[in-house]
Amino acid sequence: MKKQYLLLFMMAVLITSFSSCKNVEPYKTLIITGQNNHNWKASSPALKQILDETGMFASMIMITPAKGGDMTTFDPDFSKYKLVVLDYNGDSWSDKTNAAFIDYVRNGGGVVVYHAANNSFPAWKEYNEITGLGGWGNRNEKDGPYVYYKNEELVIDTSAGLGGSHGKRREFLVRIRKMDHPVTKGLPAEWLHGNDELYSQLRGPAKNMEILATAFADSAKGGGTMRDEPVLMTVTYGKGRIFHTAMGHADDGGGPAMHCSGFITTLQRGAEWAVTGDVTQPVPPDFPGPSGVVLRPDFREITSR
Ligand code: ZN
Repeated sequence: MKKQYLLLFMMAVLITSFSSCKNVEPYKTLIITGQNNHNWKASSPALKQILDETGMFASMIMITPAKGGDMTTFDPDFSKYKLVVLDYNGDSWSDKTNAAFIDYVRNGGGVVVYHAANNSFPAWKEYNEITGLGGWGNRNEKDGPYVYYKNEELVIDTSAGLGGSHGKRREFLVRIRKMDHPVTKGLPAEWLHGNDELYSQLRGPAKNMEILATAFADSAKGGGTMRDEPVLMTVTYGKGRIFHTAMGHADDGGGPAMHCSGFITTLQRGAEWAVTGDVTQPVPPDFPGPSGVVLRPDFREITSR
């Protein structure tokens, strides 16, 4: 009898835990990569793992033809996805694919712009409206202003000059500028980010864009603009929400920029916001503060909603 009760008890526990864990269907997510001036073979699997470990996303990585290949064969059905993650910096997509992507975003599709994806497609007007700010690719004053903070003021700087630079890779302090946004709510006002490039002098249309966080590009620490440069942004485009992280330069296996608990958490939260407009994920206990970097080489920190 005792054994039978134990069995019943265990079955009840199992059923209860299954039903309490029953999430909504994970959001179908498309990670686009295949060409990049970065180590996309490291970054895209890391992005997939970071997103999928939340239980909220089911990601697939789509690899475009290699540079110089027939890009007409890259023809994803964006309508199948709730979220598109851009880890791509390479050849132009076909006009058909460009139009389909714009339609997807305009109609409410979520987007994550990751690191060098903001270097891509300097001549594609709508893409730059979706990313908000970009760098390199001969971007200059024709592409929009520099946007940064200086002396606590948001500066929209239309002066002439090339867009995109970074000093030596280093750890840097990220400062939240919008504490009441769903992505940043509950995060410490400042936290130290793992060794990374601090993208600076980004410029672009910056329409319908909010800067969530900046980092000071201190020239005394390996080169910089002496400005507070945007590192986390949101953009809206039509009905679509875009979360843009300029951080996360990848080494093999991800490296400290991608292993940083702050990078991981803001990416997970930003991705959820891009899909739903809200964030239900709790801030993990290991989120860094201002005094020390927190790395998660194996990525996962168990969280629950
Ligand atoms: Zn980089």
